[in-house]
Amino acid sequence: MDRKPRRTLESDMPLLEGSDVALPRTLDAAREAAKLCTRCPLYLLGTQTVFGEGPAKAPIMFVGEQPGDKEDIAGRPFVGPAGRLFDTLLQEVGLDRAKCYVTNAVKHFKHEPRGSFRLHKKPDTSEIEACKWWLRIEAALVKPKLFVALGATATQSLTGNGRDILKRRSHFEQTADGVPVLITVHPSSLLRIPNARDAAAARQMFRGDLELILDRVPAAKAA
Ligand code: SF4
Repeated sequence: MDRKPRRTLESDMPLLEGSDVALPRTLDAAREAAKLCTRCPLYLLGTQTVFGEGPAKAPIMFVGEQPGDKEDIAGRPFVGPAGRLFDTLLQEVGLDRAKCYVTNAVKHFKHEPRGSFRLHKKPDTSEIEACKWWLRIEAALVKPKLFVALGATATQSLTGNGRDILKRRSHFEQTADGVPVLITVHPSSLLRIPNARDAAAARQMFRGDLELILDRVPAAKAA
């Protein structure tokens, strides 16, 4: 049995640095392993690890920030209000979510209690770096042709730089391994725009970004 550390497709670093643990053979095996993760303190906060989901060889991997309140309870990514809007906008441009892999840069829900609510808190750099471990495993198993970074946290995780998202959105950059990354905003940001006309314009711009995906990866088109 090969006990040498494996290397990721994303970088030259050992996949499980300092250990001889091999890359999980399947997404299901990785998902099971992630349930026990204690690589950063967020495991103490979230109800459960919310791993990505989608076809094992999806051509597109959407990467969000972290699970929200609903995702934390359901144990599935993008099932809350932002996820529902995301699904609607995908359908409107003819993208089939069932053909895409959807995950988050950070797999536990970071929050603080506010009365009866759990208020979302943005993950910090050390948490994003710790959880990149799992994103690399997902990337190594799925091998997408294109990543879509939804917001600053995902952009930081995929490109190493999460600044100036609004200037960089609608453009293709690359991971360290040369896989293209389309940068756009997180769909939750579209829900926070109070003015109806501005919200409609923001959704149209997001649809425009999704159409760039179809131009690049026509295989993701809905039947
Ligand atoms: Fe592990 Fe990621 Fe959860 Fe941190 S957020 S404990 S790295 S799965």
